[in-house]
Amino acid sequence: MAMCQMCRRNLLAGERYRRWRYAGRDATVCVVCEPEVIRAGWVPLAERYERVRANGLSGSVRRVA
Ligand SMILES: [Zn+2]
Repeated sequence: MAMCQMCRRNLLAGERYRRWRYAGRDATVCVVCEPEVIRAGWVPLAERYERVRANGLSGSVRRVA
């Protein structure tokens, strides 16, 4: 489960977010809070956005028979 470090909101499945770095710490920030962290001088770790997976786990694939 991904949580935005700024608004403390649990991100929904399919929602976009990016990883940011500030004062040596990595943080997950939702798109809504990006203007705020940019003003605060945070640096994005990647240009592209990631998406919250429906099951919250990476690399797991479930097949429905
Ligand atoms: Zn947020």
